[in-house]
Amino acid sequence: RRAAFVAMRDLPPVTKDGTRIELMVNAGLRDDVAALEATNADGIGLFRTEFQFLVSATLPQREKQQRLYRDVMEAAGDRPVIFRTVDIGGDKALPYLRNDDEIEEENPAMGWRAMRLALERDGLLKAQARALLEAAAGRTLHVMFPMISEPWEFDAAHAIFEQQRQLLVERRKMLPTAIRYGAMLEVPALAEVLDILLPKLDFLSIGTNDLTQFLFAADRAHPKLAERYDWLSLAILRFIQRIVRACEGASVPVGVCGEMGGRTLEAMALVGLGVKRLSITPASVGPVKAMIRSVDLPGLRDHVTAMVRDMTADPRASLLAFAEASGI
Ligand code: PEP
Ligand code: MG
Repeated sequence: RRAAFVAMRDLPPVTKDGTRIELMVNAGLRDDVAALEATNADGIGLFRTEFQFLVSATLPQREKQQRLYRDVMEAAGDRPVIFRTVDIGGDKALPYLRNDDEIEEENPAMGWRAMRLALERDGLLKAQARALLEAAAGRTLHVMFPMISEPWEFDAAHAIFEQQRQLLVERRKMLPTAIRYGAMLEVPALAEVLDILLPKLDFLSIGTNDLTQFLFAADRAHPKLAERYDWLSLAILRFIQRIVRACEGASVPVGVCGEMGGRTLEAMALVGLGVKRLSITPASVGPVKAMIRSVDLPGLRDHVTAMVRDMTADPRASLLAFAEASGI
């Protein structure tokens, strides 16, 4: 089987009926970029910029950030890299970035993290924006904001990037040729205001790790709960279906970048719901591509749509039956 996946490296992720699915990889370190060559993925769909902050004893200086981003883009060549601005705080607390009041957080995942922290300590976000904009000089910059709960948070982060871009214009510095702005949908509340959010976006990325924990109120790191809440549950599938339909309606590309997309059956469900971009762990690229190349998309869409509507069988069993019939 492994040899088959290696042979699959140079084949495109295209369904039997000819629909191209974008298969990207998740990364966070400079060395992770090697996975692009190894897997022949379409790009990096999630670059977790906080890794550099987490392994550093002090706040990484702007020049250091810029060097990393430029190295990553250079190594990726023509393939796009979607940089996610820092998702720190909460359970990824940093000694050099404490909250002022020394508040002990009982629920750090729902606490002062990601955009909540970055918009308050906006010096941090300004420096990161500058580093990304300068690193992407002469290329397209793809950037997305984590843990957006309300549209104004996207506006505020977007404004910081545009201010920094303006600064570079005034200083006659070389700019990115284009900037694509995205938001992550990880907080369920955001799904209720997509009509307001989507017109502002160039793309949306669903983070199923956090989304699942918030949808079920179930800690993603809790060993007892991991077994209990299945990604192939009706609530999650319907939730994602709603988001995908809203994005289709607004012509905003939508992808999934949580771990759900790296599991073959779950990825099949997502493709059946209309997701056309998956960003996954490199080891999953082979198996997921094999699945994509084996399915007939109209048939899969019908199957998944009926399954999610009628729920006559357990989704896992129903998808397994479809996979077997497709020879997966
Ligand atoms: C997610 O929450 O699904 C996600 C991709 O982000 P992270 O795992 O870094 O929280
Ligand atoms: Mg997340």
